[in-house]
Amino acid sequence: HVSADPINDVEHEVKEWAAQKKDEINELRKQEKFRRDFLSNISHEFKTPLFAIQGYIDAIQDDDLEDKDMARQFLQKAARNVDRLSYLIKDLDEISKLESGEIPINYSKFKINDLLREVIEASEMKAKQHHIKLIFKQKYDDSILVYADRQKISQVLINLIDNSLKYGKEGGNTAVSLFDLHEQVLVEITDDGIGIEEKFLPRLFERFFRTDTSRSRQIGGSGLGLAIVKHIIEAHQQTINVRSTEGLGSTFGFTLQKAKQNLPFPSLPTLKS
Ligand code: ADP
Repeated sequence: HVSADPINDVEHEVKEWAAQKKDEINELRKQEKFRRDFLSNISHEFKTPLFAIQGYIDAIQDDDLEDKDMARQFLQKAARNVDRLSYLIKDLDEISKLESGEIPINYSKFKINDLLREVIEASEMKAKQHHIKLIFKQKYDDSILVYADRQKISQVLINLIDNSLKYGKEGGNTAVSLFDLHEQVLVEITDDGIGIEEKFLPRLFERFFRTDTSRSRQIGGSGLGLAIVKHIIEAHQQTINVRSTEGLGSTFGFTLQKAKQNLPFPSLPTLKS
């Protein structure tokens, strides 16, 4: 093939090459910014409880503090902040392992109703502490099987139910519902708590994103719960979404792939006598 205009061809190729390199550089810059933001978020998240612990220890060590009750209160507050640091480390460890693919999705077939009941039962104590009633809206029989990583879906449910209790309303309800969508099931966790402003909804699943920093931080959690949830559901190639009205409550829903029902055993060949 002989080109009519070889110089123009070369120029075109060089331009294409340069555009591709520019895209690559932009992508690397984006990743670098993401890493930098992530690190600065982590150090910020660690600083808050650490400073608090330091403050309480200083106050206890203060010679003027003779009030034993107050010292006990400070110790309790320091211990709560130690817990916060532990959650943070546990969640950071989990999200980095999930993202690196170090913990693969371990698929199995299981009854979704069994798992929902198990997690609800395990959360009942916590719900009582928050004075919230946990309701399982069971519409189907127990035969629905899903194909997913049971342990990871249990983690998703725990994180979503925990949030519904943390941001729920005292005396209110959290409902867990299951919907049969033919090829998939939809699991929804609905609370009648503080709700979320519409403008925050698109950013809710980002790491460390909080709608109301001071309140959410006070309530606890690592700020990574929803990021972990999203990661697990997307690793299953399923979807997660949220609907919410500020002041009225929120619903978090995710889908799971249904597994085929157990087929009857194939008939055995008849033995010839
Ligand atoms: P956190 O540890 O702060 O709870 P999450 O990643 O679990 O972190 O949630 C991120 C933020 O989303 C929370 O800080 C809170 O502002 C908001 N949020 C999550 N679940 C709910 C809910 N059920 N109702 C109202 N706000 C919620």
